[in-house]
Amino acid sequence: MQASLRKWFGSDNPIDVINFNIGMVFIYISCLTAFASSIYLHMNREFYYVLGIGIVLISFFIGYAGQSGRYQVACFAVVILLDFIIFPGAYASDGRFMSFILIYYFLGFLLTVFVQDGIYRRISYAIFLLSWILSVTLAYFHAVKTGVSLFSGMNILIDVIIPMIICGSFSLCSILASLRYYKVESAKAEKSRRAADETEKSKDMFLMNMSHEIRTPMNAIMSAGEILLSKDISFDTRQNVHHITNACRALISTLDDLLVFSKTDDRNIVMQESEYDLTNLLDDVINMISVRLMGSDVRLYVYIDPYIPRRLYGDMVRVRQVFINILNNAVKYTKKGHIILRVVMSDVMKDSIMMHADVIDTGIGIKKEMLPNLFDDFQRVEDNMNESLKIEGSGLGLSITKSIVESCGGSISVESEYNKGSVFSFDIPQKISDAGPVARVETFKELGVIVCDDDAQMKEILMDTLKAMKIRCTIVSNSGEMSRAIGEGVYTHLFITPECLEGSCDLPALMGANITIVVMRNVDDPEDDLGDGKIVKPLSCLNIARYFENETNETGTVSEPEAEKSGEGLIVKGARALVVEDNMTNLMVAERLLTRMGFEVSTANSGNSALSLTKVMRFDIVFIDYMMTGMNGVDTLRQLRKLPFEWTGTVPCIVLTADAHEGAKQMLINAGFDDYLAKPIDMEELDYMVRRYLTEDKLI
Ligand code: ADP
Repeated sequence: MQASLRKWFGSDNPIDVINFNIGMVFIYISCLTAFASSIYLHMNREFYYVLGIGIVLISFFIGYAGQSGRYQVACFAVVILLDFIIFPGAYASDGRFMSFILIYYFLGFLLTVFVQDGIYRRISYAIFLLSWILSVTLAYFHAVKTGVSLFSGMNILIDVIIPMIICGSFSLCSILASLRYYKVESAKAEKSRRAADETEKSKDMFLMNMSHEIRTPMNAIMSAGEILLSKDISFDTRQNVHHITNACRALISTLDDLLVFSKTDDRNIVMQESEYDLTNLLDDVINMISVRLMGSDVRLYVYIDPYIPRRLYGDMVRVRQVFINILNNAVKYTKKGHIILRVVMSDVMKDSIMMHADVIDTGIGIKKEMLPNLFDDFQRVEDNMNESLKIEGSGLGLSITKSIVESCGGSISVESEYNKGSVFSFDIPQKISDAGPVARVETFKELGVIVCDDDAQMKEILMDTLKAMKIRCTIVSNSGEMSRAIGEGVYTHLFITPECLEGSCDLPALMGANITIVVMRNVDDPEDDLGDGKIVKPLSCLNIARYFENETNETGTVSEPEAEKSGEGLIVKGARALVVEDNMTNLMVAERLLTRMGFEVSTANSGNSALSLTKVMRFDIVFIDYMMTGMNGVDTLRQLRKLPFEWTGTVPCIVLTADAHEGAKQMLINAGFDDYLAKPIDMEELDYMVRRYLTEDKLI
């Protein structure tokens, strides 16, 4: 019995099924009552027929609903039956509104309210209204027959009170069932919400750990690369080390993409802002893309406005990700021709700029109808194209890029012509930390450059760059023009490709001329000793300025790769640093980087040994790894701060962490660290940190 009740009314059923079953019970009760009352009132025989047919049909619909599960259809059929057949049929067979007849009308209405849904409910209401109008009309035209008083004696009980009790009980039971159902469902929803929260937390935890696991070895590779780059190594080896560090950066960027995507429900990305060097960011991006283009038929050209402030304040990792995502796409979808990166300022405010970038490619282009949804998740246009054109990709890059740009307060757009190419443009506002420009143009006024290159696009962009840098410049196409230009005596440098130098030129005469020959090489060109200096393509105001600065700093000509060595050198004197890190490779790498800066470095591979060291030695700066086995970074810091020495309370403590998760920095700063250095350690950032936190007297 209990099992059947649960089967019919248990809250495992959907609420419309429970209410349907309750409704059917009350319909049967009302039919039985109608039989009883009609016997008492001596009704016509037709009335019994109508009632009998009604009960048979209702039983059929109940069976149909139970069998097929189509409760809405069955309920709709019952409503029609009640309002259009039983109610008018009973009325017509007896001609009066008495003997309980009205109850069918009300039961139909209650079924509509408690069970029906959607279109069925709307149609039922219409039927209900129609049935009401028909009944009133009928009653009006047969007014004589309704003359019997409804409100006297036994009639009141049968025609008014019993229907009220039945309909009221039906409503009450349905309301109670709905409330119970709601309670059970809320408990279930709450349970699933908690389970989802738990899953979300473990997903976050997993991502955090993965991020750490991947970034830690990456740190070792990148830092070892930085050290190698600071050594006196050949041009080829230097390029190869560059490739390794660039590949590491690309992997870190993919990792960052995954971290952003893991927060699909919250694409309003939290920015981790700090001061950064735009030159580093653009160098990184250009390097990475040049390496990707090695061996392909696609050329990369870069124009950067030399007046953009060099030190900006913003989320460098995210901004770099935007550049990389858009440029990576350009590389992926361009098989011949060129890619142009243009970075300028579209607006300059008092303490911020609107950085504007265009990435123009001559790739496969995008069909017009695909453009509106291009920035949606998993949109992959070439999915609709010929199989042979299919290119690997997830369809996530652009949607993540858009989220980042918009979270920065910027905007992104695309223009494209199918089979011709695309232009992706974005604007990102960034605060100015120091207004000094990426290329110090005023220092180059005395220079003059002759450009000799067969590539028309290159010549155009290079001329624009040199003009923007206020460097006198001219383009030559053959030996005659070149000799004439050199003869003018106003040019100090000749920027020339190896092909032009070896091929069309009068080499001995050129070597004898009073002009510095700078060979413009591709990143993968074999090493040679042509020219007085070298500069690696793509040329932009960044590497041109660096070339000239190095040339003036060091006597004679310094080649582009060697210029990178100029970062080498001491920046501190008589300062002691402590590095606490449980990974031996990372510890060694950090020690070397700091030693190079002039620090006297002590190392500790656990929180406890660091604390022992601090009891016997005083340090000017402390670097602590966050995720150490045993005592972690935060606990080590707390113990250090509690030591009874004056310096331990104030010494700058920088946390080293591979955790790039949103909010990680704030959490560590709240825990008491002065600042945060993401692994893999970036030489520039380390340099910046040291200059920021070391006292003046310890800096050179
Ligand atoms: P993915 O490249 O991983 O598929 P994206 O979100 O980065 O995902 O790009 C979405 C789609 O936009 C790509 O599948 C491609 O069809 C199109 N697309 C993006 N950039 C370019 C481009 N430079 N040239 C042509 N099509 C592009």
